[in-house]
Formats: sequence, structure tokens, C-alpha cells
Amino acid sequence: MKPISSNDETWEAKLKHLTFNVKEIQNNLLEEILTPNLKTEYLQRFNMDRFDKELFKKNVPVVSYEDIQPYIDRVVNGESSDVISARPITGFLLSSGTSGGAQKMMPWNHKYLDNLTFAYDLRMHVITKHVKGLEQGKGMMFLFTKQETITHSGLPARVATSSYFKSDYFKNRPSNWYYSYTSPDEVILCSNNTQSLYCHLLCGLLQRDDVVRMGSIFASVMVRAIKFLETYWEELCSNIRTGHLSEWITDLACRSSVSLVLGGPRPDLADTIETICNQSSWKGIVTRIWPNTKYIETVVTGSMGQYVPTLNYYCNDLPLVSTTYGSSETTFGINVDPLCKPEDVSYAFMPNMSYFEFITMDGDKRDVVDLHDVKVGCTYEPVVTNFAGLYRMRVGDVLLVTGFYNNAPEFKFVRRENVVLSIDSDKTNEEDLFKAVSQVKLVLDSSDLVLEDFTSYADTSTFPGHYVVYLEAKAKKEEKKKVSLEVNEEVFTKCCSVMEDSLDNVYKRCRFKDGSVGPLEIRVVSEGTFDLLMDFFISQGASTGQYKTPRCIKSGKALEVMEGCVVAKFFST
Ligand code: AMP
Repeated sequence: MKPISSNDETWEAKLKHLTFNVKEIQNNLLEEILTPNLKTEYLQRFNMDRFDKELFKKNVPVVSYEDIQPYIDRVVNGESSDVISARPITGFLLSSGTSGGAQKMMPWNHKYLDNLTFAYDLRMHVITKHVKGLEQGKGMMFLFTKQETITHSGLPARVATSSYFKSDYFKNRPSNWYYSYTSPDEVILCSNNTQSLYCHLLCGLLQRDDVVRMGSIFASVMVRAIKFLETYWEELCSNIRTGHLSEWITDLACRSSVSLVLGGPRPDLADTIETICNQSSWKGIVTRIWPNTKYIETVVTGSMGQYVPTLNYYCNDLPLVSTTYGSSETTFGINVDPLCKPEDVSYAFMPNMSYFEFITMDGDKRDVVDLHDVKVGCTYEPVVTNFAGLYRMRVGDVLLVTGFYNNAPEFKFVRRENVVLSIDSDKTNEEDLFKAVSQVKLVLDSSDLVLEDFTSYADTSTFPGHYVVYLEAKAKKEEKKKVSLEVNEEVFTKCCSVMEDSLDNVYKRCRFKDGSVGPLEIRVVSEGTFDLLMDFFISQGASTGQYKTPRCIKSGKALEVMEGCVVAKFFST
């Protein structure tokens, strides 16, 4: 593992170098990636007999995962890496795959972790420029590892974060505060994620005064952790009071490491936490239990934006810091203005991560441009050439250029491209859906209800087909006692109409003029349904740490989960 300097000046110099020399670094990086790979079957097929950037752009096509899947599958099934990569492929990354359906397998090697750890250190350096007093404390981070599968070729296939936690990079990480957590490594490495979540909370409670930062990779996980605390705080306090860990924590490594953190009985601490949790309102609970927390480190951009109000409520408006934009293909960039508002977050792309190109998305003509050629105010889909055998692969995200940090373009995450509801010629993407749901939130708010989560699907079993939106809502409540949701016909019928009003003109034409789309339907589901949906996807191989609620459901089994929880149905009139 590379030594990591804690010297801020060194990191500042690296940040400057990277962001001032974007074009040169990208060109050198492309040469570094391609030169050893010219002999691969894949590049030979496109007559890449020498390194030449223009030749590469002319001969090698921009592809989707499906185009190169046959090559990847051959390596998965035991053929040599050099079908696609001269650098040995030592594993595969499973992308979360909850939006599109099936999980994708991306070729992987240690360079991915070089990049990941580099980006992590760089972002921590940036954070220390903005938040003071972190050095003496610890992070309470809800990090999880998922069990890997082994491919026919004997190589591991796992989600990106697990590939890091299972590696020597994590095991031998430097002992500086960037990497200092309240939980022992055994908790992060435990493959039973319910047990690890319980232990994360217990360790965090035991060291409540040490916690200076808190977080998870994605905001949905942070919200889940707080809700879990809402259910388990009495048991957690009882463990602290008696000094004895609950028997259902059966993972041996977890048990022994957490028992050490637990030490002996601590009745005073248990009393203090119980008093806080027993208060009628859980507003600001995070800052009351962990008073030294300075910020929450979790992605709140893209589809995670909807968790911002919930996090603000529980965390008393602590800064929500979205640090990194990354995927199973590559890490893209970091947020160099970490304390900005969630809606203003952009990520400065780091030119040393992978070779980046961009498909222009404005207007009808599609061009492919380099990182240094993108223009402020324009939208693009990123295309990645990486160190593990992906050449010009489309990522499927839509990004908007908001500015430059030195010469490095900064991108705002707009949406994932492929999530659409469509019945006829209407095409509703994730962003349209979020816009429509924001109108629903207003209606619910005026009736003292809050939206917990939503998903949708295009129901073509009716004629004409129609959009179905599943909503989980709950009564606003200051007291913690569960209040059952009164399903109010007038309110939800209005929600159906405001959603339709907010959808685009093509939808409205199909719906109101052509009659090719039927009335939008809202199906209200019972409290806890979206936790069940998450459990379902995790049982199918999605990871706890990287889970994102799919905004459109395409799997029949997942629909069954939702259908089992429907308590009422409403249609627009
Ligand atoms: P995966 O390959 O499973 O790691 O998922 C990667 C995808 O997650 C990206 O292509 C984005 O759609 C989404 N994603 C990752 N980081 C962010 C971020 N910071 N903001 C919004 N979406 C993100």
C-alpha cells in the first residue's frame, strides 16, 4: 500500500496539479491505459495497432454494457484477461443494478482501489480545509460488506465498497484520523448487515463523545440507521446498562470485538441515552445523542436528494456533505466545496482516475468531447475508458457542467438516464418523476402527512396502460408514538392530479387528447414497505451500503413485494 502523507501541503499541491493540468494528464493517462492493451483481442478487433488518440476515437466504438458483456462473460467463465485487458483482471465489481434490473459485472483490478483511496484522501484533505477540529475524534460510519460470489474462473465478484473493505488497502490503512472509526473492522466486515448495523450503533453510542463525523455512502442508509435506532434504542441501552451484548449477535468476530468496546456495565451512560431517546420529539436526535458531530458525510445528490428533509429533521440541519461521485466503472470526482447546500453540489472530475469522454445531450446531434472540452451549462453523458478493460463505455448518467475548479470541469448529477416510465410515446425520466413527486409532497404537507419514499411502474396490463406510483406516507408527529396513517381520499386523488399536471406535454397529449395513456394511479402502501423492498433487493444480491430505492420497478418479484403492502388505491379524475 502506498504511504499516505498527512501533510496538507502535499495534498493541496496534488489537488492543484490535477486541476490545473487536466488536458495533459488525461492524454498521458490514455496512453498509459492503451499502450499495454494494444494486443488485447478487443482492441485488435478495432485495428488499434499503435497508440494514437485520434485512431482510438475513430476506430473504437462508444459502447453500452450489453455490447461488451460477451467479452466480459468470457473472462468471467475462465478465459484469460487479455481478451480485454493486458493487466490481469483479479475480480469483478457488481454494480448495484437496482435501477435497470440485473446486476452488471465490471472487470476489476487493484488500480480501482488505488484510485478510490487516492480520491478518499484527497476529499478528506478538502474537508479539513472547511471543517476544523476533526483530528481528535472518530467517524461513526455505517459501512457494510456484502458476501462475495466466486465466478467460474475462480475470481471474486462483489460490490465496489466490499472490494475495498476486503482488501489489504483497508486492512493496512494508515492510522491517521481519516480512517478512525467508532466500529471495529470486524463490524464493517460482518456479512450479516442487520447484526453489523446494530453493532455500529452500539459502538457509536458507547463512544458518543468521540464522534465528530457520521455518515454512510448513500443517504438512504443513514436514514435507515436512524430508523433502526428508533426501533432498537431500548435494547441498545439495556446492553450498555448490563455490559452484555444481545444474544442474537451471533457473528463471532463481531461479538468478540464489540464486547471489548462494550467493556463492563455502564448504567450512567445508559440512563443518559434513554432520557434523550424517551423525549417525545426525535427532531435533532442525532445532535443530542452525538453532540460533537460536525457534519454528516453521505451522498445526497441525484435520487438521494429526497432524503435531505428527513436528515435535516433528525440531524438539526448539520451540514450534509456529498463528497464523491463514483461507480463500479471508476471514481469520477470529488466535491471541492463540501459545505455547499445539497442542491448546489457539483463534483470536480479528477483527470488521473480514468480517461473520460462525454456525449453531448443538448440538441439532436450527438458528439463525443474530451473532459477539457465540455462547456458550462451543457449536459453530457460520461463515457469511461479505465485500467481494467473498459473502453469508451457509457455510464448512463446525465450530468450538467456548472463551472470549473481551476481547469477541472465540475458536474452536477442530474439523473440516471435509463429510468423511464413509458406507455405510448410519453417518456418520463427520473427527473420528471421527482418533479411530479415534489408536487405530491406539497399536497401531503398541507394535510400533515410526510412522504417516506416512492417508486413506480408502467402498468400495461390495463387498457390503455397507465402509470402506477407507490407512495409510503406517514402522519407528521411530534410525539414518537406511532400514528396510523389515515388514508384520505380527497388528498390522494389530488396527489394523482398534481402529478399528472407536472408531467410533460407528450404525457398530457397521450393522456388527455389521444387517450393512449390511462389515469395515473397512486397505490398507498403501509409503513415499512420500502424497508421490505430494500430487504428484497438485498436478498437478490444488492448491497446494503450501495442500495438505492429504484424509482421504477421492472422485476415481477419486487412488484409482488409492493402489491402485498397496498392499503388503498386512488386514480386521477
Ligand atoms: P454502482 O455502479 O452500483 O456503484 O452505481 C453507480 C451509480 O450510482 C452512478 O452511475 C450514479 O447513477 C449513482 N451515483 C454514484 N455516486 C453518486 C452521487 N454522488 N450522486 C448521485 N448519484 C450517484
